[in-house]
Amino acid sequence: MDRSNRSKSQKALNECVKVIVRCRPISKKEKACDGASQVVSTYPRRGVVEIQNPNEANKENRKTFTYDAVYDHSSTQKNIYDEIVRPLVTSVLEGFNCCVFAYGQTGTGKTHTMEGIRGDEEQKGIIPRTFEQIWSHISRAQNLNTFLVSVSYLEIYMEELRDLLQPNCKTLELREREKMGVYVPNLHSVTCKSVEDMITVMNQGNKNRTVGFTNMNEHSSRSHAIFMIKIEMCETDSNTVKVGKLNLIDLAGSERQSKTGATAERLKEASKINLALSSLGNVISALAENSPHIPYRDSKLTRLLQDSLGGNSKTTMIANIGPSSINYNETLTTLRYASRAKAIQNKPIKNDDPQDAKLKQYQEEIARLKQLIADR
Ligand code: ADP
Ligand code: MG
Repeated sequence: MDRSNRSKSQKALNECVKVIVRCRPISKKEKACDGASQVVSTYPRRGVVEIQNPNEANKENRKTFTYDAVYDHSSTQKNIYDEIVRPLVTSVLEGFNCCVFAYGQTGTGKTHTMEGIRGDEEQKGIIPRTFEQIWSHISRAQNLNTFLVSVSYLEIYMEELRDLLQPNCKTLELREREKMGVYVPNLHSVTCKSVEDMITVMNQGNKNRTVGFTNMNEHSSRSHAIFMIKIEMCETDSNTVKVGKLNLIDLAGSERQSKTGATAERLKEASKINLALSSLGNVISALAENSPHIPYRDSKLTRLLQDSLGGNSKTTMIANIGPSSINYNETLTTLRYASRAKAIQNKPIKNDDPQDAKLKQYQEEIARLKQLIADR
């Protein structure tokens, strides 16, 4: 995005996608499950996760994976936010594009991590904590800067883009322009003036996600939700405008969709859901192998994430897993997928003085009106 606006003095340094693993506590259901055991061991201080095949008695055969950070059952929402996301939001406020996405099987805590539990101060997730950091920064900097904060919220379901802030609109399209990168024309964007405004918009979008779907849990585990925040900042002294963008993504469940007993509609749905996540896997592999062709165009999700993967964004992947032997195969798949993503290199660049900034247009309009009044 805004590729043309990279300031010439900026030297882009390669920065790898940060990959962290969060293992949720064992659930009551898993505890009660006959013959099930805990197969995941976490070593947060070393950033290591070990997994034991429950069908192999030989404990020497554990598989070991290392990540940028590992969080176990005792980690709190605050830990994750302060250590992983807070520095990213600071970068957004400096004019970078950043992205956080939660990947993992259904039931491993993606929504818990991204949104948390509504109305529970301690259990609130990354998205509401981000709102607080943004407005705390703005309230401290108010005299020096002008800010314009806007949000959009969309969902990808069966390869269609739905605007969650305008649910009655027809499905959205993706476009690409040389100067802007990939963007979504007509995507509704709401200007927010406080944490509360942002919470209201998020809740409204979440409510709209359920419209037309009888089983909300099933729907949300099959669709990708993308919450976008754009912050325009103008330094009063220099009159320069910076834009920071943040994508917060709760991906569809990564589990293999079962084909047994599925209806034709369900099979179509399953293949499209797999398409987005398998394309994401292919993009990750191609980037990790430095392949000359990166298949971004294979799905809407990968096109939309183009800048976050191998582009100009600072990106963090949170791989959510559970500890039980019941999910051994899916957990191992997630750990491998996450491991590949570590090799992706981005070149984060500040969006200095971008031409599409609304704030700049507003300022020019104010200057024009002031001039008109003065001329009368
Ligand atoms: P997903 O979005 O990946 O399908 P959820 O976020 O809905 O999974 O989590 C499934 C269940 O596990 C929920 O009841 C949630 O409250 C619980 N849970 C997930 N992660 C944690 C955690 N770190 N600590 C406590 N409970 C968790
Ligand atoms: Mg969920």
